[in-house]
Amino acid sequence: MNTVVLNKGREKSVLLHHPWVFSNAIREVQGGAEPGEIVSVADYRGNILASGFFNPVSVIPLRIFWWGNQPPPRSYFFNALQKAVSRRILLERDESLNAYRLVFSESDFLPGLIVDRYAEYLVLQTLNPGMERLKGRIAIWLMDLISPRGILEKNDGEVRRREGLSPSSGILAGDLHRDVIEIMENGYRFNVSISTGQKTGFYLDQRENRKMVAQYAEGRSVLDAFSYTGAFSIYTASRGATSLVRVDTSQEALVLGHQNLLLNNLESIPDEVIHGNVFQVLRKFRDANRKFDMIILDPPKLATSRAHRSRAARGYKDINLLAMKLLGPDGILATFSCSGGIDAMIFERILSWSAKDAGREIQILHRMSQGPDHPVLLSFPEAAYLKGFICRVV
Ligand code: SAH
Repeated sequence: MNTVVLNKGREKSVLLHHPWVFSNAIREVQGGAEPGEIVSVADYRGNILASGFFNPVSVIPLRIFWWGNQPPPRSYFFNALQKAVSRRILLERDESLNAYRLVFSESDFLPGLIVDRYAEYLVLQTLNPGMERLKGRIAIWLMDLISPRGILEKNDGEVRRREGLSPSSGILAGDLHRDVIEIMENGYRFNVSISTGQKTGFYLDQRENRKMVAQYAEGRSVLDAFSYTGAFSIYTASRGATSLVRVDTSQEALVLGHQNLLLNNLESIPDEVIHGNVFQVLRKFRDANRKFDMIILDPPKLATSRAHRSRAARGYKDINLLAMKLLGPDGILATFSCSGGIDAMIFERILSWSAKDAGREIQILHRMSQGPDHPVLLSFPEAAYLKGFICRVV
């Protein structure tokens, strides 16, 4: 195995089991390692500390998955995969759902591997050249471990491009005759389009939060902003919301949202569908003096990197301020951020600026994060990307 030697002092984060090594921490790459190769990681004195995937074109050239002075055992990847799957046993046993994340990258000691279960199918992403090399074997192992009807690759995201990988989508194993898969989540049914959907098809990370938010829906008019395929709408409508307004820029997602309402026998709820930009729609509602009893704000990642933090902060402040103004007395605001660069403390501060400018007081009722199928290692807090609050706006 080739070796990557770190600069003096830069071994500290490796010893704390942080999996990322940035280029400015690297002194020397011995043996001319190739993208995707597994390398040893040594401190400046040459002591081997760990092993990881090497990729010179990435801003994170080294992603560690194994700590110790010996190389990882040959069975490492199969074992890690098997453990990740067996750790989801409580979800597997839960008869009210059949869609969840089976493998969550670094948090499951498999950097760059995402595997999501959608009923009888698995959707997989390999997000760095090291994992990409293992893709075929991983598909075979998953067939052995889980026996799905099919495994699909959905490698079309921006992340891969930054790792020097080209897009690649299609069937890796088994088959898939339809593009739309029906899943169940907490007893609700959803159509998920794998090929045209966002991420791997559904925002699985919000499962617990949808339940939490829906507790407050009874008797309320709901604005579901950034609704995607209407998951929050279906939960809140089922728990007694009186009307829905769904807003999204994706027409396909809005159409699928309508199908999802029908799937859950919710065709009788008033459902206003707005194909548009939430930032503008909220302004129009403010100018028209429209009021809601409950608003859900679940925007896409507004900060794609730390550098975009202040622009993202202005975006979050803007939509939260507008939403607070649109809420009637004691209205409920469920607001989220999935930007890794904005942590829960910063997000809370942004909300306080919004409240001040909106002239409203806020009571925080719940603090939310991603579900337990998206675990966060204590040594890798970067995995905690989703945060949200349920607030009463008084
Ligand atoms: N709440 C959804 C997930 C939302 S993901 C759920 O629970 O499933 C973010 C959504 O915002 C995506 O559907 C995307 O199409 C949409 N979107 C992105 N920018 C937008 C904008 N400016 N205005 C409206 N929708 C937007």
